Amino acid sequence: DLVLVSGTTGFLGTAVTLAYLKKGYRVRGTARSSEKAQKWEKKHADQFEQGKLEWAIVKDIAAEGAFDEAIKGVTILAHTASPFHYDVKDNEKDMLIPARDGTRHALRAAQKESSVKRVVVTSSFAAVLDFNRMSPDVTFSHEDWNPATWDEAKKSDNPTYVYCASKKLAEEEAWKIAKEPETKFRLSTICPPLITGPPQQVIESLDSLNTSSGAVWGVVDAEKIPDTSFPVGTDVRDIADLHVLASTTDEGADKRFLTIAFHFDNTQIAAIARKSFPELKDRVVEAPVSEGSPHFSTDASLAEKTFGFKWISFEQSVKDTLAEILKVEKEL
Ligand code: NDP
Repeated sequence: DLVLVSGTTGFLGTAVTLAYLKKGYRVRGTARSSEKAQKWEKKHADQFEQGKLEWAIVKDIAAEGAFDEAIKGVTILAHTASPFHYDVKDNEKDMLIPARDGTRHALRAAQKESSVKRVVVTSSFAAVLDFNRMSPDVTFSHEDWNPATWDEAKKSDNPTYVYCASKKLAEEEAWKIAKEPETKFRLSTICPPLITGPPQQVIESLDSLNTSSGAVWGVVDAEKIPDTSFPVGTDVRDIADLHVLASTTDEGADKRFLTIAFHFDNTQIAAIARKSFPELKDRVVEAPVSEGSPHFSTDASLAEKTFGFKWISFEQSVKDTLAEILKVEKEL
């Protein structure tokens, strides 16, 4: 089997690529430039057998036909690439178009390439939640959809809302293509919450840390503990393994998985940091630990039941995140 992973150089893309390689699959990773690809390969060369990884340069997923070359001979497509940041100047150009059209281009390419049997798309809890129903008596599951529309998102001045809408519109596009009669592959989607856990991508500076690792690291050197913007999380290694499971098992096909392992509050991250890392004692303010205000409930039982999946714990995930970023900080 040859797996095409889009966005190999990203935080999640790195973990997904390594997860397929560890299971013995051949992987073709996409990167925006060969320089980025080379740096990634240098960092991870000792983690996989030589010859198992090759590259396709996809400069911009939003470009028509972006994946038409990269898809040749592929049996499994894992589409992880999509913008995840809040630095949005033009809602359509910076967020909505690369998310939706990137997904469309990847899945259209897969539809035309008869070797492709399975596709997994990284969606998000952002595609599930409904900002108007965030209350303690609501339980979100894989059956729920963010009601945001393109037109609302285009006009919104809230970057979080725009990002969430981009994920909903992209996932909707994926299911639309998967259901067309000419489609031969089977689709699965993964809807992760905030992804924590050790960032393994190439990190040039801590200012350029990916958004979710930045959210964990945000308790360090802060005058006060930042508000918890997404109070639900899962470790990146679990999310990577779930991409592999969803795209390589019979039970994983044709399903949408909400993959939430824990509910948390940033004050709990701060407490773990102070307790587990003596060098962080002076860099993380002491604050009363909150259970988090009751926000909403989530049901991730489909993933748990389908795969008998056991999650990495919140405490372990936070410890491993901080340990890795502290290591990177020393090396930089
Ligand atoms: P990163 O920013 O680390 O990764 C994003 C990836 O997408 C990078 O590889 C980036 O390339 C690539 N990319 C973005 N826009 C383009 C473009 N226009 N053309 C080509 N490549 C592009 O973030 P994450 O790893 O966190 O995000 C990966 C996926 O996971 C996304 O789909 C995101 O929505 C989803 N997700 C993430 C969550 C999280 O908490 N981290 C939670 C839920 C879902 P480059 O490396 O060159 O910048």
